[in-house]
Amino acid sequence: MDIWAANRMKLGAPHLLGTPACAGCGVRGVGLCPFCRAGLARPVQEARVPGVTRVLAPWDYAGAARSLILALKLRGRRSAAGPLADAMSEEALTRGLEGKVITWVPGRPADTRVRGYDHAGVLAVETGERLGLPVLRLLRRTGPRRPDQTALGKEDRWVNLEGAFHARNAPAGVVIVDDLVTTGATAGACGEALRKSGAHTVEVLAACYVPSSHDAR
Ligand SMILES: [Zn+2]
Repeated sequence: MDIWAANRMKLGAPHLLGTPACAGCGVRGVGLCPFCRAGLARPVQEARVPGVTRVLAPWDYAGAARSLILALKLRGRRSAAGPLADAMSEEALTRGLEGKVITWVPGRPADTRVRGYDHAGVLAVETGERLGLPVLRLLRRTGPRRPDQTALGKEDRWVNLEGAFHARNAPAGVVIVDDLVTTGATAGACGEALRKSGAHTVEVLAACYVPSSHDAR
């Protein structure tokens, strides 16, 4: 191992010391450095989800973008939400949003307990702050505990989430924030619940879009 690789390894875990580090290269001081950010790719295609007006997602699910999501979702690094929310709000500003209220896909209660926060809720609050839009909890999960989506195939993901979300008092235009869009089953189920509750336009704003052939865990 050369000295640069050794340094990168050392720098790869400085969050353990309480200092933010780039999710791509490990340089200290920022969650995502400009160099690594510039290297992130847009999704290879536009996501289309039944029941959702459109999907906005700045990044393909790979490299530092994937590392940030895994850090937020699995490693309890709440600060990883910052660079994700930066990119999501920039995407929203570039393309324009119809919805004037932000909500989020509520996490599974067991996951939220383990993590200590609802990761999509954290992204929604940070994105709402950047965009100057109100963030309201409009969705909740209903019915029995269901299998984790990542354990299921494409068709089963849609069946698993039928009626899984309930919405209340949705305004006409809603933006749903989540970390990832894969098959769109989760976003579709949330969109349906919001429409039943009064929404006409449902947009999804996520950090990454990953076609379902990828492994989204
Ligand atoms: Zn970097």
